Amino acid sequence: MPFTLKPLPYNPADFQNFVSPETFSFHHGRHLQAYIDAANKLIAGTDYAAKTLEEIMLTSSGPLFNQAAQAWNHDFYFACLTPEEHQAIPAKLKTLIESNFGSVADFTRNYAAAAAGNFGSGWTWLMQTGPNKLKIMSTSNAGNPMVDGFNPLLTVDVWEHAYYLDYQNCRADYIAAFLSHVNWDFAAGRLK
Ligand code: MN
Repeated sequence: MPFTLKPLPYNPADFQNFVSPETFSFHHGRHLQAYIDAANKLIAGTDYAAKTLEEIMLTSSGPLFNQAAQAWNHDFYFACLTPEEHQAIPAKLKTLIESNFGSVADFTRNYAAAAAGNFGSGWTWLMQTGPNKLKIMSTSNAGNPMVDGFNPLLTVDVWEHAYYLDYQNCRADYIAAFLSHVNWDFAAGRLK
């Protein structure tokens, strides 16, 4: 079965102080759809056609990796968001953030700085690298921490298409808005 576009898990019109419904519409309906379509074209008639997106991402390279990883990364990014502002961080994850980064405020500062400094197009991740170990990592283009064996908890898309209609060159403002709309229940649910 070819991959299909999953509906967003919320109504984009419910977001205040983040990005516009127009950005969601282009980002989800055009950009993500294009990655899915391109991945489907590349896997048609190959052994990859029986694999999941994650399996393809972990076993491919070049153009197929780029399209499959972009499709996976976008599903993940959209799942990391909620219209709710400043959602409480579940206790277990909050404790881990404090033990790894000092405080939630220190994490927020470091994560925002990493995302602002992620040169060009890419993704900035909060990931789990061990039972009680969290790290921030930036990847370029379609990069994903699972390729290096790490467990992603959270990602922000810093490709310009994610924010340009609303924020133009002000990536830092988009990142700050992203951080106030994180679905921390989703991130905490990823902990292993
Ligand atoms: Mn994107």
